[in-house]
Amino acid sequence: MSRYTDANCRICRREGVKLFLKGDRCFSDKCALDRRGFPPGQHGSVGRKKPTEYGIRLREKQKTRKTYGINEKQFRLYFDRAAHTKGNTGEKLLQLLETRLDNIIFRLGFAASRKAARQLVLHRHITVNGHLVDIPSYILKVGDVVQVKEQSRQLDAIHTSLRAAGQRPSVNWLDVDKTTLSGRLLEMPVREHIPTPVQEQLIIELYSK
Ligand code: SF4
Repeated sequence: MSRYTDANCRICRREGVKLFLKGDRCFSDKCALDRRGFPPGQHGSVGRKKPTEYGIRLREKQKTRKTYGINEKQFRLYFDRAAHTKGNTGEKLLQLLETRLDNIIFRLGFAASRKAARQLVLHRHITVNGHLVDIPSYILKVGDVVQVKEQSRQLDAIHTSLRAAGQRPSVNWLDVDKTTLSGRLLEMPVREHIPTPVQEQLIIELYSK
């Protein structure tokens, strides 16, 4: 399945929750979910049938997948990898998603959204441990250092994002240096330190059927 390219705000409205897909706009009074808090489509405002148990689990998986901008196949691969790793599958799944390079760039505040972070990586503005990495799905290890490469440190988008980053939830498992535009993964995040409002248990139940 290809990446979803329709208006991001429709995704939030479909899931009924703010997924923060459009950077600073999400924190302003222009947020579409705040203005039109009902599902998109012609009959969105007239209410929906009560969802089935399956539907609830499916929506939670979709919500998680779209939050991180992952396609269906890749998301399933992450789940399988988490399920085959020792420990809590839900937490392992979220750790895999959180330690993707594009997500780390977003969490560090260098990009206004995960989508913008992906662009920074694809356009070769980012190094990991001093080496250029242009793969958004690159998984970081504890101790890895991410940095905006020297020639790219004047990019307006990065500085605008950094100024607005204070509005977003911060995480204690990343150390950010705004002077050198770098950050380090200090430790693997535990569930309570991952500010993503999903019920990962429902995803496990969905895939366990
Ligand atoms: Fe979602 Fe952001 Fe659009 Fe609001 S502005 S609906 S949070 S993508």
